[in-house]
Amino acid sequence: MVKKEDKLSFIKEALLKRQKEHRLRSLKAVTPIYGTSRVTVGAKELINFCSNDYLGLSTHSEVIQQSLEFNKKFGVGSGASRLVSGTLSIHEELEAKLASVFEIEAALVFNSGFQANTTILSTLADRNSLILADKKCHNSLIQGAVLSRATFKRFEHNDLNHLEDLLKEALQKDYNRIWVVSETVFSMDGDQSNVQELAKLCNRYNALFYSDDAHAVGVLGEKGLGFNFGKTGIDISLGAFGKAFGSFGAYAGCSKEIKEYLINFCPGFIYTTALPPAVIGALDAALDLIPKMEAEREQLHQNIQMVKNSLQELGFDVGKSDSQIIPIIIGSEEETLACSRFLEEQGVWASAIRPPTVEKNASRIRITLTVKHSQDDIHKLLEVFREWKER
Ligand SMILES: *Cc1c(COP(=O)(O)O)cnc(C)c1O
Repeated sequence: MVKKEDKLSFIKEALLKRQKEHRLRSLKAVTPIYGTSRVTVGAKELINFCSNDYLGLSTHSEVIQQSLEFNKKFGVGSGASRLVSGTLSIHEELEAKLASVFEIEAALVFNSGFQANTTILSTLADRNSLILADKKCHNSLIQGAVLSRATFKRFEHNDLNHLEDLLKEALQKDYNRIWVVSETVFSMDGDQSNVQELAKLCNRYNALFYSDDAHAVGVLGEKGLGFNFGKTGIDISLGAFGKAFGSFGAYAGCSKEIKEYLINFCPGFIYTTALPPAVIGALDAALDLIPKMEAEREQLHQNIQMVKNSLQELGFDVGKSDSQIIPIIIGSEEETLACSRFLEEQGVWASAIRPPTVEKNASRIRITLTVKHSQDDIHKLLEVFREWKER
């Protein structure tokens, strides 16, 4: 039997181990300087290169206005889960508008991207299914796959040949269904998948296709509507609202039939309180704005190109980034941490990403660019990286 004093020793030990490896994480409270790219941490002002508020919509006046409006009209809470009395008219209107803007049959709103991935995948697969996910998929998709109890295999990152090998192998087995899971833009590398080719492959092997568009919606693709937009052969198209939409939540784009199935069988949809009116208001306004923000996106894309080119000219490895997410791959953990501290001392805040989030020797500084970064901010960023290189 476990001794009384030992019951919680696993916690101490795990934390101590993390500490010894210099991998112990902690939270840092910041104060955003409203509507700018800057935050203050204590007395220090930093340019924020870690935010996913790519279009700056979290502080857009029309978004705030509509959020306040819904707050006043409907109250601060939805009062119940969607199937009880939590589906307000505004939830249905948002879903209808999402379907119309994204030109999909139906949309179902979830409380977060993490929750959606975890619960949808585990609802649509079971112990007799096979899930094949890209090696660099977001943790939420992995949790969903594990929770489903399906046979779970990973294919090499963006390697369609490897995926096809696994699909061929699966023909010998008696799975009730096969899901292929990938993302359009990968969170840690900022590179892209080939949605069209993935969809074709799924079609050829009669597999279902789950494509997570979290980082692309709002920023990339036609009218900023992501890379799933306009593509056929996607069974679940996931979009997140915590990034370019500037607010919170997520949606699954799917057929009307899958939507009805999820409403009836998906625990992470059924057993949770519906998103509050203020969030729905913000999303409603953001959805009106996003297709119209071509000028902002154009400027952002110019900045992305400029930053990527300049970093490469300075001799940095930015991997295969093809988006607003740019990794600066340093290699060792120590060097990465030192670089991150150097940046911070110089007023630039970028996240240091280390194992287990990325592979060993692939530690990196990861920056995200948003429309709130001024030309001065960007010059500052490049200047600090140049100084780091020349130190
Ligand atoms: C951010 C992200 C999520 C999680 O979305 P949240 O709304 O933040 O929970 C899921 N998948 C991918 C690919 C993401 O980048």
